[in-house]
Amino acid sequence: MKRIAIVGGGISGLSAAYTIEKKRQSGTPVKYVLFESSPRLGGVLVTDRVDGCLVEAGPDSFLTDKPWAADLCCKIGLGDQLIGSNDSERKTYIVAKGKLVEMPDGLMFMVPTKIMPTVLSPLFSLRTKIHMAKEWFHPRRNSPEDETVAQMVERHYGSEMVELLADPLLCGVYGGDASQLSVRAVLPRFADMESKHGSLGRGLLKARKKADAAADVPARPVFTSLKEGMQQMIDTLVARLDANKLNTSSLVQAVIREHDGWTVSAGYRSDRFDAVIIATPAHAAAALLLSSDENLSHDLFGIQYSSSVTVTLGYDEKVRRSLPPGFGFLAPRSEGRRMLAATFVHNKFPHRAPDNRALVRCFLGGARDEKIIQTSREEILQIVRDELRQIVAINAEPLFARVYKWKSAMAQYSVGHLERVQRIESRRQNLPGLALAGNGYNGIGVPDCVRSGAEAAGKILAEMGMWSSA
Ligand SMILES: Cc1cc2nc3c(=O)[nH]c(=O)nc-3n(C[C@H](O)[C@H](O)[C@H](O)COP(=O)(O)OP(=O)(O)OC[C@H]3O[C@@H](n4cnc5c(N)ncnc54)[C@H](O)[C@@H]3O)c2cc1C
Repeated sequence: MKRIAIVGGGISGLSAAYTIEKKRQSGTPVKYVLFESSPRLGGVLVTDRVDGCLVEAGPDSFLTDKPWAADLCCKIGLGDQLIGSNDSERKTYIVAKGKLVEMPDGLMFMVPTKIMPTVLSPLFSLRTKIHMAKEWFHPRRNSPEDETVAQMVERHYGSEMVELLADPLLCGVYGGDASQLSVRAVLPRFADMESKHGSLGRGLLKARKKADAAADVPARPVFTSLKEGMQQMIDTLVARLDANKLNTSSLVQAVIREHDGWTVSAGYRSDRFDAVIIATPAHAAAALLLSSDENLSHDLFGIQYSSSVTVTLGYDEKVRRSLPPGFGFLAPRSEGRRMLAATFVHNKFPHRAPDNRALVRCFLGGARDEKIIQTSREEILQIVRDELRQIVAINAEPLFARVYKWKSAMAQYSVGHLERVQRIESRRQNLPGLALAGNGYNGIGVPDCVRSGAEAAGKILAEMGMWSSA
């Protein structure tokens, strides 16, 4: 019987455990033990219920285009619990000079694909609009050199586009900074389009026409979630695993390669395993692997993480009626706010708030505001309430408020990330019985983490000769 340790009980570690559990149930002689340092499983996936509202503390949904999370939900019997975002209400605003300005229709990430809405939008200056027109004739870029997202966007659309769209969008998704993030790691599709077509606008239009011609299925919602919130996925997944093998409140202090196996130490106990999957943030993996391979540990430490804070406020019907339609707004750095973005949850996922409630979820922190994590909850609430008053004129007392802090939870894929991940992978291959999973390597979203956990388990099982197509 082979034994595998899994360190980390977030969605990545649980996805690895599920892959091994399925093998075990089909008669493969393999066992696992999962160690999670906190008292609960699920990592940053946490759903609370307050005053009839469903409050997401971490992720609220995942991208429909990335299939792995929805596939896992279907496998564990949650297929009929998947819901799409209410895209008929999909409208996003940018805070510009203190006011909400609607993002023009046809913008795909920050690439305009429809001429008239962009030309007529008050969001961009004439200079940027001229840049957008010229972008259509942008030459191909064949350099293999990585660069920052800001450098790429500025070359195509000018600096205003970086400030108004690229940076706030990346802050909202990655808690990141466009002037640091790697275009090849974060927006590989755009890097490919630039080398094939030159113009991103033309590249996106071509891709869309091809997709439209190939599929006659109706458009799918951009975001997918679960009826009972993201934690529904964790609770159901945990129920499919062997409860005796899931150790919470078990901080792993050391993972040491010895002879032909691994010794994992948690609390006062050390146990031997044939293999170990480390499914923690990369900085925690770095600390655990320091004695096994100093260079590997060094590269893992090099993956930067940012911290974030989410604040959800519940309001009454009057506030709900006063808020604009749409999914919410992004606040560019030039506006000088601490808030990066806010979601009008009652519009994006209407069933998450009764009709007589407004649910507003705000994001703070990210790579440029690490201080927020040290700020008291009272102060954070004050900041959010002041800024909501200024931006969307909410003066009312909230009916409830929840503040969630996530320290060093969001990986930042900076320039050179792909090469770093390659080095990590080749060093890992020199340590038989070791696999890594999590948001530090090949994708930060929930679907990527599900895939990374399943792939890590597949690699270990393949090494043990127990997997035919890992
Ligand atoms: C506020 C926020 C909003 C987000 N929004 C979205 C979104 O809307 N859509 C989306 O797709 N993605 C979103 N993400 C990203 C996504 O949720 C995460 O990247 C993903 O959930 C990470 O899962 P994980 O299992 O790799 O890591 P984690 O959830 O961080 O889990 C790692 C676990 O390892 C444990 N651990 C660490 N060290 C040890 C140790 N030494 N011993 C034992 N256990 C240890 C930790 O306690 C933790 O539970 C968001 C992230 C955050 C923080």
